[in-house]
Amino acid sequence: MLGIGTIAKKVFGTPNDRKIKATRPLVEQVNALEPEFAKLSDAGLIEKTEEFRKRVAEGESLDALLPEAFANCREGARRTLGLRAFDTQVLAAIFLHQGNISEQKTGEGKTLTASLAAYLNALTGKGVHIVTVNEYLVQRDADWMGKVFASLGMTTGAAVSQMSENAKRAAYDCDITYATNNELGFDYLRDNMKSNLSEILQKQHHFAIVDEVDSILIDEARTPLIISGPSTDRSDMYVIIDKVIPLLEPEHYDLDEKTRNVSFTDEGNEFLEQQLRARSLLEPEQTLYDPESTSIVHHINQGLRAHKLFLKDRDYMVRDGEVMLIDEFTGRMMQGRRLSDGLHQAIEAKEGTTIKPENVTLASVTFQNYFRLYDKLAGMTGTALTEAEEFAEIYGLGVVEIPTNVPIARIDEDDAVYRSVQEKYAAMIEKIQEAHDKGQPCLVGTTSIEKSEMLSKLLTEAGLEHNVLNARQHEQEAQIIADAGKFAAVTIATNMAGRGTDIQLGGNVELKVLEALDADPEADPVAIRQRIEAEHADEKKKVLAAGGLYVLASERHESRRIDNQLRGRSGRQGDPGRTSFFLSLEDDLMRIFGSERLEKVLTTLGLKEGEAIIHPWVNKSLERAQAKVEGRNFDIRKQLLKFDDVMNEQRKVIFGQRRDIMEAEDLNEIVTDMRHQVIDDLIDTYMPARTYADQWDTQGFYAAVIEQLNVDVPVIAWCEEDGVDDEVIRERLIEATDKMMADKAAAFGDENMRNIEKQLLLQSIDGKWRDHLMTLEHLRSVVGFRGYAQRDPLNEYKNESFQLFEVMLDSLRQDVTQKLGQIQPMSDEERQAMLEDLARRQAAVEAAADASANDQLAAENANQPADGFVEDDQTTWGDPGRNEPCPCGSGEKFKHCHGRLA
Ligand code: ADP
Ligand code: MG
Repeated sequence: MLGIGTIAKKVFGTPNDRKIKATRPLVEQVNALEPEFAKLSDAGLIEKTEEFRKRVAEGESLDALLPEAFANCREGARRTLGLRAFDTQVLAAIFLHQGNISEQKTGEGKTLTASLAAYLNALTGKGVHIVTVNEYLVQRDADWMGKVFASLGMTTGAAVSQMSENAKRAAYDCDITYATNNELGFDYLRDNMKSNLSEILQKQHHFAIVDEVDSILIDEARTPLIISGPSTDRSDMYVIIDKVIPLLEPEHYDLDEKTRNVSFTDEGNEFLEQQLRARSLLEPEQTLYDPESTSIVHHINQGLRAHKLFLKDRDYMVRDGEVMLIDEFTGRMMQGRRLSDGLHQAIEAKEGTTIKPENVTLASVTFQNYFRLYDKLAGMTGTALTEAEEFAEIYGLGVVEIPTNVPIARIDEDDAVYRSVQEKYAAMIEKIQEAHDKGQPCLVGTTSIEKSEMLSKLLTEAGLEHNVLNARQHEQEAQIIADAGKFAAVTIATNMAGRGTDIQLGGNVELKVLEALDADPEADPVAIRQRIEAEHADEKKKVLAAGGLYVLASERHESRRIDNQLRGRSGRQGDPGRTSFFLSLEDDLMRIFGSERLEKVLTTLGLKEGEAIIHPWVNKSLERAQAKVEGRNFDIRKQLLKFDDVMNEQRKVIFGQRRDIMEAEDLNEIVTDMRHQVIDDLIDTYMPARTYADQWDTQGFYAAVIEQLNVDVPVIAWCEEDGVDDEVIRERLIEATDKMMADKAAAFGDENMRNIEKQLLLQSIDGKWRDHLMTLEHLRSVVGFRGYAQRDPLNEYKNESFQLFEVMLDSLRQDVTQKLGQIQPMSDEERQAMLEDLARRQAAVEAAADASANDQLAAENANQPADGFVEDDQTTWGDPGRNEPCPCGSGEKFKHCHGRLA
């Protein structure tokens, strides 16, 4: 019986149907133009691009140009690659252009789809970025679609990590640039550490099309991108903690496998205190609850997580004496990625490999905030619908489900649940054997390398030849995938999300076509394709007869989307195919989330050895469990984002200022303003309002003027003059420093001076910003602890980070003023010495970041009220200066807190 919803859908159509229907006429327009563009000469296609560019420059909208531009691009692809974009691809490309996610199943041809939307948007001359998950795909797609763009008179670039700056700049200057999300994010961060405009790679963030958008914007969005530098070596501490962790008894701690959180019980804390005191990591009187212990507590937590939650060969591998992370979604090694906050070091201590110094953050950004920089964003993937809410909420992206070019003929079987893992595997081997005997290719999905090796062993024992695709072999990945659809092939893979090569029955035609085209660039692509397809036809026919690709999953993943990715490998472009999931009561998901009810039902049914229960109810129940995990992961990402948003506001201000400074011709006004502000602050501090001259600390004032302004003027005498007030002194200080700086400018020459001002400003901003990032990181872990005191950590973090930002700006002004006051024209030798000094200082920046950690500790202690402070009794406040910290311990300046004048 149909539910009411289903009946309504049949009558009214879903919102998705309506969107598609409303867009069809546009597709028809593109189709109607086809004959006209087919008649153009090859040069004619390029001329069209010229014409379109002109029309855009003259103000014609991209929407108006869309039908012609798409028709031109379709024709270009047909001529160069022998691929005529299907209507479904044109449809999907329209939605991309409109800033949506097009959900197109695997094998529907997303690569070509993207090129239509990219071509149209690149007509603005502002550059389009196409984002893929790995560099193999960057290169593949840039080479592949580059042929199309070239035929249209557009340039294509591939920005990859091992490239010279110049080559990379050239790649970014192309009309269309392919790059991975990582490289884009890192280049953005690096751009914002540069000091000359000409070195900037990403001139603008105009339009990005993100392929495998769920992998990038959801799975990878859990870890922010961080550029960091090493800090001091603390391996001893890691080793000591690593020795202590195994001594812990279960009652000493709580592990939450679901949230990957750890905490210690009171008993555990006491035990740890003893152990750590004995090893001199804690002072005799120090407890773990003391503020000074924040950092130790943090590292013990990390040690426990390293031991109990991070498993070798599931979460990481040890290779060549290095701990390498494994991408939980693709099973691939993540080269160069390290866990932050000392967790990586804790794992290194556990595995006995060399402990690399912890890194301090020099710059960081989340993918969420990086991709929100673009004026327009679009995405493609086979699996977006389950995450539609997140895409809408975080990125403002709608999801449109694009119909397949040919209806899907795949059969998805109900899950089969066995009692034990062994029984499940045995059943799988049996099924693979059956399929193999018919010649049906099998793709076996697993959730970890360990499990894929286990299955591989069983297959070998059964005498079944097979390929294994996992982190250890990513070099040959594409080839193995390409072969997975051949007659009788058996392939084991860890998660298939974001793999990017599609499995074609009888083998991958595209790789061969491209090979042939590269070997003979003059050959006719259409003819080559026909020849290769004909060669494949025979094998393809046999595979089709055997039932197409059979996908066997050995477990359900935490996320339904990853399961769908695996399923979607079968049945592409209307091919036959079959998918089934083999589960057992011992699976992680079942253990952690499976309802007890399910287990009871299964036991009452009295499952016998080797028997499975197969029922749609089981699928439903598991999908509910998965939805729960997905929701939880979404919450984690939202939380990360909320914290990053706070920093993002500040990052935008700083990066924006930096950019303005780089672009500015003359910064004299800015630095003069800064200097005058510093003078104001000095006056506020040493000549507080409503005080008399005899109360002023004129000695201190004089010293501060020399130190901060670098002018030696008789401040003390000025202050003793009759009837003098702060306004007069301010005028005189401004006059004196303005003159000094004017003299310097004359001595250096105007142009030199402008240059010095610029470099100094940038250097100061960078230095202060790095320190500030470090402080924010510490603040985060500190507010985490405060959460226990019933305060909302996010609010605390927001308020305090805002204050810290103001503090940073104050000290930036001081820094710049002070340094500019100190510069002197110099001889060539002196200049040389200065350059060397500058280089040394650059190196010291990292060390400075470490020192700021200690400052932070001091700042935490400062957050206590001063001894004897009583709020209602002003005599207990001491005699703080207006710019000194308030004695109440708020951390604010006195003048903004208890010293605020009514
Ligand atoms: P997806 O990324 O959607 O999984 P791909 O872009 O990798 O798909 O394309 C899959 C295969 O489909 C490629 O081999 C490609 O050559 C083929 N293909 C794409 N578009 C067309 C088309 N319009 N006509 C014929 N084959 C196509
Ligand atoms: Mg793809």
